[in-house]
Amino acid sequence: MTRHVAVIGGGIVGTCTAWYLNQHGFEVTVFERRDAVAREASWGNAGVVAPAYVTPWAAPGMPGKVLSYLFAAEAPVLFRPVASASLARWLAAWLGQCSLERYRINKSRMQRLAFYSRDQLHGLRATLQIDDGMRQGYLQLMRSQRDLAMAAPAIAMLQEAGVPHRLLDAAACRQIEPALSEDTPLAGALHLPQDESASCPAFAQDLAEAAIQAGVRFAFGHSVRRIRVEGGRVTALEINRPAAIGRSDKPPRPMQDQTQQQTQRFDAVVVAGAVDSLPLLAEHGIRLPIWPIKGYSTKLTLPDAALGPRQAMIDEAYKVAITPLPGQIRLAGTAEIGSPKLVPRDAALRTLVKVGRDWFPDAADWASASCWVGARPMTPDGPALLGATPVDGLFINMGHGSTGWAMACGAGKVVADLVAGLRPEIDLDGLTIERFA
Ligand SMILES: Cc1cc2nc3c(=O)[nH]c(=O)nc-3n(C[C@H](O)[C@H](O)[C@H](O)COP(=O)(O)OP(=O)(O)OC[C@H]3O[C@@H](n4cnc5c(N)ncnc54)[C@H](O)[C@@H]3O)c2cc1C
Repeated sequence: MTRHVAVIGGGIVGTCTAWYLNQHGFEVTVFERRDAVAREASWGNAGVVAPAYVTPWAAPGMPGKVLSYLFAAEAPVLFRPVASASLARWLAAWLGQCSLERYRINKSRMQRLAFYSRDQLHGLRATLQIDDGMRQGYLQLMRSQRDLAMAAPAIAMLQEAGVPHRLLDAAACRQIEPALSEDTPLAGALHLPQDESASCPAFAQDLAEAAIQAGVRFAFGHSVRRIRVEGGRVTALEINRPAAIGRSDKPPRPMQDQTQQQTQRFDAVVVAGAVDSLPLLAEHGIRLPIWPIKGYSTKLTLPDAALGPRQAMIDEAYKVAITPLPGQIRLAGTAEIGSPKLVPRDAALRTLVKVGRDWFPDAADWASASCWVGARPMTPDGPALLGATPVDGLFINMGHGSTGWAMACGAGKVVADLVAGLRPEIDLDGLTIERFA
């Protein structure tokens, strides 16, 4: 019988999974190598929770868009190929998903999880009284007729699904957002009144505190280095943990010796450690097509709220999201396909600042912006990978790409249900590893 479950990774996905596992009555331990929850991709994201907007990167016109920006100074997509067979395979699979037919299938799979996730998020926010600075509404700003044309398939799907939305001309858009600069060309905007934005790390922190109160154990500073499998079943984790400080009179040893190793037995393990936990699965023959698509963000003080955005928005031409936070404004975007190394990039920061200045020139001291970089754990088709693996007791909750905050509560609930042997409340067609089998 499954009693003690380990979760690898304390990002937003692992934290939500741990919460729901606890609610099913499991004893839960989260292993997180950092010293708190949500310190990697979940830290500096745009904070947008927009199920109506959720979109795969594999879309009609995207390959052309990537090529057209190859040599541009300010670009929403940077293609910096590195010699890697995994990247080559990922790109080939991505190209194969860029047709209109595949786009519609993938988008509807993602939206199924995203709408469910928003319901779960609202439930947790209300029950646990979490204040994550939620703002209602989402705007998709189109600078040109080309941007409007590229949005047409997504708008058609909103219409078919009966999702509330409005196409606005520039004047109507500026009525909703009076601080938008008149000097930047605006062909129109799509308004999604039911979508929202909020701080992902604030939510994760509050949820983790509630989970600790409820009995979940968070082992911070603990890095999982191996999943042990015996007879086709998961049995234990091998963990590196920091050595206890001040327990020895001996002189300190070199840094690499400052950790201790231990093995802990578990009945089940959920891998929710995004890109860096892929090798743990590969050792058992589970190779997931997830590549880190890097993104950048910057957060600045907003001294006068009237000079900034009232709700979250995205500049479709540059794919940069602009999000209001309490007393601050965040710009996030750029998809960089290439090296997995997380190094801040001046060119990406310049794009973020350009977009911020273009729309809200007086909102912030743009010259003081600094750059944060994170990795979107992206599948080639878009939807995440949830649930069982070929190893008994080994589950995954990974590959949430550019919408992991929007998906995390729903994905956590689905995976916890599966660990408990329950039928999830949504159809999992297209959301499991079976599609890559
Ligand atoms: C610029 C940018 C903007 C974005 N904007 C949005 C947005 O507006 N809305 C949205 O929904 N999503 C957005 N995203 C995507 C979203 O941030 C991610 O999908 C989400 O954070 C992924 O969550 P995660 O928990 O899977 O990964 P992470 O937050 O990266 O967490 C994984 C955790 O696992 C830990 N870990 C890994 N391996 C091990 C190990 N072996 N042992 C112990 N710990 C381990 C890591 O330390 C890390 O804390 C954006 C991403 C970026 C980069």
